[in-house]
Formats: sequence, structure tokens, C-alpha cells
Amino acid sequence: FKNAPPSIRDVWLATQEFSDRDYLVYEDERLTYGDAHAQVAAIASWLFAQGVQPGDRVAISMRNYPEWMLVYWACVSVGITVVGMNAWWTAEEMSYALADSEPKVFFLDSERLARVREKPAMVDGVKLVGVRLDETTDNITPWSDVIAHGGALPDAEVDPDSDACIFYTSGTTGFPKGAQLTHRGCIANLMNLMYSRVSSAAAVFMATGEAPPDPPPVPNGLITTPLFHVTANNCGAYAVTAAGGKMVLMYRWDAGEALRIIEREKITSMSGVPVMAREIINHPDFDKTDTSSLMTLGGGGAQVPPDLVQKIEDKVATARPNTGYGMTETCGIITSIAADFYVDKPDSAGPAMPNFEVKCVDDLGNEVPQGELGELWVKGSSVIKGYLNRPDATAEAITDGWLHTGDVARIDENGFIYLVDRKKDMVLRGGENVYCAEVEAGIYRHDAVAECCVFGVPDDRLGEEVGVVIVLKPGETLSEAALREHCSAVMAKHKVPRFIWFQDDLLPRNASGKFLKKDLRQKFVPATA
Ligand code: ATP
Ligand code: MG
Repeated sequence: FKNAPPSIRDVWLATQEFSDRDYLVYEDERLTYGDAHAQVAAIASWLFAQGVQPGDRVAISMRNYPEWMLVYWACVSVGITVVGMNAWWTAEEMSYALADSEPKVFFLDSERLARVREKPAMVDGVKLVGVRLDETTDNITPWSDVIAHGGALPDAEVDPDSDACIFYTSGTTGFPKGAQLTHRGCIANLMNLMYSRVSSAAAVFMATGEAPPDPPPVPNGLITTPLFHVTANNCGAYAVTAAGGKMVLMYRWDAGEALRIIEREKITSMSGVPVMAREIINHPDFDKTDTSSLMTLGGGGAQVPPDLVQKIEDKVATARPNTGYGMTETCGIITSIAADFYVDKPDSAGPAMPNFEVKCVDDLGNEVPQGELGELWVKGSSVIKGYLNRPDATAEAITDGWLHTGDVARIDENGFIYLVDRKKDMVLRGGENVYCAEVEAGIYRHDAVAECCVFGVPDDRLGEEVGVVIVLKPGETLSEAALREHCSAVMAKHKVPRFIWFQDDLLPRNASGKFLKKDLRQKFVPATA
């Protein structure tokens, strides 16, 4: 990056040299980097003309349309903070986030407009811009007017420690919190993504002597998760954009559609949660699809059952498995692992990125001996400033710069991190802790299983028992007794689920694509609701 200190503005400006290349692809629409630069400049100029200033906030709530990225780059390039609202929120939740973040302008599509109309007071004093609306409405500025404003990208000094964006956590364990991601944090994460690529090339070189292609191929990235989370935005979009690659967006996740896109757009990498990679390789169209452009497959944001690593290696000839472990609270990844390193250690999430210090601690916050399980604490330049308007939650999550991840892990003598569970999800069975990920990993080794999710079920005698919900692959049958026998063969007796439930539908997921354990628990063990 040409200017120091690097800022997100510099990242965006550096992509001007790719002006003829495709950048944003959505269905049959294609925008080049040149088109995107003109629109980003127009949006930023229009925002300034409305009196929005650096430090003010602008909210976005819509599907993964190209406009999402255009508004994002327009704001962060001039120091306006983006509020990435979860598009699946109800009117109630939208109201909460708008009151919490107080944006000056709100870019929204028709589905979100319908929710605003349920509670119109939520946008009092907020200027609305309609994206892909099928109607014209007096008090909503059409997107075309914003673009028609034209103009060059306004000058702006951006403070590296100011908020680039507010992203709400996935809400997997409770009500989402608005994390404040600084410019410095987002850039540190971008550096980490670059480091990951080098480390993955090193893994291949050490195993095979094969040097990486020079220059590296231009990525064609398929974005499968919502842009309002770090997986798609700070990892998927940043990695692709900084390399001048193409970002292909989807209206909604669908494995069959993803396969068609992989073939048509020659996708090299797909950012998403691991279950999406599993759906891809289990899909009936997989064998008929040309996936030879894929260089990596895997994903992060949730546990990767180790069997998936080997299945990717075996089934997708060109793609090497990869994962990143990260959080909204770290602007992206904390660890990453890929290729031969990952095949050798498929139960590890990899070593920490260079900007992180890591340790595992006991309940009192004291570091546990190396190799033992404890809560993972991390410290580094990509840790968020805090949660918006939540000093209590910030103080609980970050002490002396150490972020308490809430994840239970161990760190081996080479610094590789093994995540076993979220602290909140661990099953406390009698005197033993049972880690959901370990049980799930064992169950996935049975070939009939498409999806599974393990959780604790209250028990008078032991405190908690292990329960699991299983979805079988189409056409497969598996009795409870046969599954129990399989479990007994691959895991210690106290981990074998006492309760086994089968369901036909795929497991419920949140907007990020993570399984909603709390909904499953509520469905199968109503007393825990
Ligand atoms: P909330 O904090 O609102 O409950 P969330 O924790 O799911 O939701 P995110 O910030 O999107 O919100 O996710 C971070 C969490 O996802 C991590 O703390 C960890 O539990 C899990 N995770 C992310 N990547 C991985 C990975 N590669 N392996 C295992 N777990 C992962
Ligand atoms: Mg979390």
C-alpha cells in the first residue's frame, strides 16, 4: 500500500489500477472496478452533500446486492462509519439497532422497507435511500438519484482508530451486540489474510517442493454469507478486493446454485461456513459440475468436523482445505490453517496470526499449563474497541486488551490452536466435561450423516446428558441402535449421546449459516426454553 499508515481508503484507491476488470457480479449484472469507483465516488459525494460528515454513521440493510459493497467503500473511504444491520432482523430488532447506532442515512431494499412500515417511528430523522425498490415513494431517495449526483471521491483524513463499521455479532448465543471495528483493526485483519496465503503456500512447498504461482492468480471469490458479518466482508470481500479479484454475490445460499456459479464464473475460493462446503460436496450435481477452478474450500465461523477436511482433499481434485477461526470482535481471523498443514492436523484451527498474543486461562483468568484446555484469550491490533453503548459488556469481554473469546481451546507446543467448544455450550455431565465438537466429529465419521448438532440436556442425576439431532443424507437409513454402536466405537462411553433425535429438514441456521443450537434445544427439550 502506497501511503503509510495504510488505511481502508488506500486499499480502495489502490484498486483503481484494475479499472477494466470485473469486480461485482450479481446474477446477470456485472460492474467493473472502473464502474464501482465512479459509483463509490458519487455515493460519498452525495452523502457529503446531505451534510453527513466523517464520524457520522450510515446504516445498510439489504440482501447481498452489489450496492452493499458500493455503500461500504464509499463510507469507509471518507471516514463515515457503516452500520451493517442484519437483514433478517424483525422490525423490533431493526428499531433497536437504529436507536442504538443513530445513523444519519439508511440504505434499504424493499423487504426492509416493509419492516420499517411496521414501526415507522424507527426512522424518524433518518434519511432513507431505496435500493431496488419496486415503487417510488416521496420520502425515499431513489438509488439512481444518488448515483446521478456524480463527483469525485471527496478528500478526507481518516483516523485509524475511528470506527470503520459497527457489525452486530451473529447472535448465536444471545442478543447481538454492536462491535466497533476500527480502520486499524480491519487493516490488521487484511494483513493477516495475506499472511495466511503465504503460510498456505509454505505448507504446500514444505510438503511437495512446489512453489506458488508468481504472480498469484487473480481470485474469483464466491460470497455465500451475509455482507453484514466479518466472514463475508472483512475476510471474503477484503481478500478479493485487495487482490483486484471478482466478487460473485448470491441472492440467497443454495448449494446447487453455488455449483452452477463455480463452473460459470471459474470460482477460485468460496467464503462461508463449513457446512456449505459439506453441502457442495454432498450435492447430487457435484460430480457433473466442473469445479476445477477451485483452489481452496472449507470455511470458518464454526467448527469444522475433521472428516470434512479429508473429504475436501479427496473429492475436489484442485482445491485444498482451509479454515479460519475468528470473531466479529477480532475484525476477522485469529487463526488460519490450510493445505498440507491442515490435512496433517484436521482438528486444529491453526496457529494465531502474527498480530495476536494468545493464552488459555482457567475460570479465574490464570493461564493454564501449555497443552491444557482453558478459555482462549487473545490480544492484538484487530481486537475491537468495544461494543457500542455497552460499557458493561465491553468490560466483561475485554480486560487489559485481552479479549475473552468464550471459546474453550488448547494450544500445542507448536502454537497450533484446537477449539473444542464454546464455554456456554460445553456439556457438564457428572464430573466430566463433554465438548460438543468432539462428539459431532465422531458422528460425522458415519457416512449416512448429512448434519448433526450436539447439546446438553438437563438430567437430575448427572446435571446434564448429551443429546444430538441428526439429519441423514437423502436415501440413507440409520437406526438409533446403529448410531449408538458407531459412537461407542469412535468415542469414550461418557460422550455417546443418551438422546438421539432424527429430523428430515436440514438444521435451522442463523443469517451467518451457523446452526441454531438454542432453537434445536427448545424444540427437542422444551423445558430448557
Ligand atoms: P454471538 O457472539 O452473538 O453469540 P457468534 O459468536 O456466533 O454470535 P461471530 O462473531 O460471528 O458471532 O462468531 C464467532 C464465534 O464463531 C467464535 O467465538 C467461535 O465460537 C465460532 N467460530 C468461528 N470460527 C470458528 C472455527 N474455525 N472453528 C470453530 N469455531 C469457530
Ligand atoms: Mg460471539
